[in-house]
Amino acid sequence: ASLFSAIDMAPRDPILGITEAFNADKNPAKINLGVGVYYDENGKVPLLSCVRKAEAILIEQAAPRTYLPIDGLASYDAAVQELVFGADSVVIQERRAVTVQAIGGTGALKIGADFLQRFAPGAQVYISDPSWENHRALFESAGFVVNNYAYYDAATRGVNFAGMLADLQAMPRGSIVLMHACCHNPTGADLSAEQWGEVIAAVSAGGLIPFLDMAYQGFGAGIAEDGAVVRRFVAAGGPLLISNSFSKSFSLYGERVGALSVVAASADEAARLLSQLKRVVRTNYSNPPVHGGKVVATVLTTPELRQLWEDELAAMRVRIRAMREAFVTKLKEKAPGHDFDFVRQQVGMFSYSGLSKAQVETLAREHSVYAVDTGRICVAPLNAANIDKVVDAIAKVL
Ligand code: PMP
Repeated sequence: ASLFSAIDMAPRDPILGITEAFNADKNPAKINLGVGVYYDENGKVPLLSCVRKAEAILIEQAAPRTYLPIDGLASYDAAVQELVFGADSVVIQERRAVTVQAIGGTGALKIGADFLQRFAPGAQVYISDPSWENHRALFESAGFVVNNYAYYDAATRGVNFAGMLADLQAMPRGSIVLMHACCHNPTGADLSAEQWGEVIAAVSAGGLIPFLDMAYQGFGAGIAEDGAVVRRFVAAGGPLLISNSFSKSFSLYGERVGALSVVAASADEAARLLSQLKRVVRTNYSNPPVHGGKVVATVLTTPELRQLWEDELAAMRVRIRAMREAFVTKLKEKAPGHDFDFVRQQVGMFSYSGLSKAQVETLAREHSVYAVDTGRICVAPLNAANIDKVVDAIAKVL
């Protein structure tokens, strides 16, 4: 027998499995609402103008591709801090925040998980029920026991806030609580500003370690509005970890640009903490890639490109909202007995549609409309040319 003869086949990734089925479908009018990718009104993944212009500058510079520092490009890390914490943040002034460039939001979560495994090894990890499916796997692979806290309420199609608060209050001190800073994936149900206040109070009172995953900054209410929750956690004091991603907000999925930021109690503590984060990076992939970090840093630090990015991101946000509106209005006409108003309240790219697994299967089989079998749909691929087909198909399976 070979060394590998007893290896089992690993389960397929549920979301990438949808893409495989979608790719195999020969219907030219097929639509994939399964993946979390933004498409423009022409059904294309955009290459943002701000990115194109930054790339033109970088090509002109023709810089050699030396290694970046272990923690990434310094100008990128500084720009990320200003974006995530706000340019006037005390944690920047007091040098209490450290930021390392990461391989996308996923890489940031992984560095954070490995780091916490060294310095809070016995801690329990809690993720929302449900959450992005990779959250559990990432923290389990770092060696943690991963639990759920109550989050989504299928009956109200909103947050089960009483349940969430009760679960937070029951967690052992020192537990790690992973939360979506905005645009909750997969449900699209976010906390209100008041509810965040109660969550922050419970986290502080319970001595919990908050870890905010911010993969969609700018897709909710706006860049500063979506980042406000980070500033509120900072104001409450205590340790804080934030993973952020530019995959969606810069439409740079394949360049793998993200960052992990950690807030410490003092500049001295922050310096020690950074040295340990660098150790985690060094033993994983040594140092991050150059291109995506340079593109994002160039855009964020060049005033006219920065403005262009903010405008382009706003256009994505506004288009998604318009598609939510159109989806609800059209479904009201086609399926008058069904209430889809909640889709209007949901935030970001995703919607828990309430469609059952059987309905999702029928949608794919009979209408070539693909969604996740939990009923999660991504509203970002909808456009004027395909929305009627999607709405007709959903009305037929209801
Ligand atoms: N967190 C959440 C909640 C996400 O939805 C995603 C992307 N689907 C990520 C993290 C990972 O982002 P990236 O693609 O940049 O690794």
